[in-house]
Amino acid sequence: MLVKKIIGREVLDSRSNPTVEVELILANGSKQVTERGIAPSGASRGTHEAWELRDGGKRFLGKGVSKALKGVEKLDKSFKNKKFTQKKFDEKLCGLAGPNKKSIGGNTTTAASFAFLNASAKLQDKWVYELMGGTVLPVPFFNVINGGQHAGNKLSIQEFMIAPYGAKSFKEALRWGSEIYHTLGKNLVLKYGSSAKNVGDEGGYAPPIQHSEDALHAIEYSIEELGYKGKVGIALDAAASEFYDNMYNIDGMSLTGPELIDHYERMAAEFPLISIEDPFDQEDFHMFAELRKSLNHIQIVADDLTVTNLQRVKRAIDGECMDTLLLKVNQIGTVYEAYETFKYCLSKNVGTMVSHRSGETEDTTIADLVVGLETNQIKTGAPARGERTAKYNQLLRIEERLGKKAKYAGKNFKKIGKRVSVFEN
Ligand code: PGA
Ligand code: ZN
Repeated sequence: MLVKKIIGREVLDSRSNPTVEVELILANGSKQVTERGIAPSGASRGTHEAWELRDGGKRFLGKGVSKALKGVEKLDKSFKNKKFTQKKFDEKLCGLAGPNKKSIGGNTTTAASFAFLNASAKLQDKWVYELMGGTVLPVPFFNVINGGQHAGNKLSIQEFMIAPYGAKSFKEALRWGSEIYHTLGKNLVLKYGSSAKNVGDEGGYAPPIQHSEDALHAIEYSIEELGYKGKVGIALDAAASEFYDNMYNIDGMSLTGPELIDHYERMAAEFPLISIEDPFDQEDFHMFAELRKSLNHIQIVADDLTVTNLQRVKRAIDGECMDTLLLKVNQIGTVYEAYETFKYCLSKNVGTMVSHRSGETEDTTIADLVVGLETNQIKTGAPARGERTAKYNQLLRIEERLGKKAKYAGKNFKKIGKRVSVFEN
């Protein structure tokens, strides 16, 4: 596939910060298509993530991406009129971006890599999931209460999620998610007043709650009120690096690592917890492994610990720190590298959950990616707010389009993906 042109554009993300959009014209013979990719952006970013290139200075309060757009001009010069596969395209991006993607930014490479993937599918009259050959719809992990860096409340834990693994289809899971979201909103208002329905960065409510247990109670109560007990699990993303300062400052307490394990164990004994992401600081490999031993029925997910980076994932898997990788393309900067990390996890029988960022856009590439890789799990925020529902609605369309071939991951959400030949060469 022949790259004809690459252009960059500074657009806004869901937090009103600028981000990079790449538009790419791709050709095969006389056929030519144009497709786009937009980079998302994290707030609770891991220290080891790919570099996000921003301008500094006054424009957009320092967050402008005009330097990144200069990078896109460089891409246009060096890619134009050359043929690529996804692997070759992304490898060349890595070469140009240099160590940690510092020279042109991981935001630039992510947008370009998404644009190439979207354009190559379109050029072959396929959707991206179809190009990759997947048929399994993931269990959605809907973020219904926001805390940490994503909200202005006092909750230490960043994300409280619900996962409708007992539904029969993605469509049904999305309906349950919406029903629980509304019921939870009503219950929070009854208990904490009308401001409790205000939302955080990922569309979950940001009520004036201080303790995790109160958030968990409200969610459990709402699930049961609707009759979904035993069919919808609760998941957490603690994003614990954000409340770690030699001690873990959580829920009004200052805890050591082992004391935090006890705290998670108490929560797991009382509530239907099925998954905990980043339960400890991003350098605390040892405590991840300890928790995994003591809560072995609960999925331990690594995000800031591993940042979709193969080297860190190898270390985490060797140390038996995780059951599941959180896969965020922009943490590493290209689809192909994310795929390599995923493939390593697959070879080690470790699961993968595809993820959005807290700063998102209307780009839906990750919805196709999760079906294409058949990783069986996705988190992309609340079942509300356009930048979040864009992905869920794309999954609805994919399920409909697959028709009888569609399978919903359901209770098998931990099992674990497949290789994709279109990324291999
Ligand atoms: P982020 O949050 O995009 O702000 O990093 C999402 C997450 O931690 O999973
Ligand atoms: Zn996280």
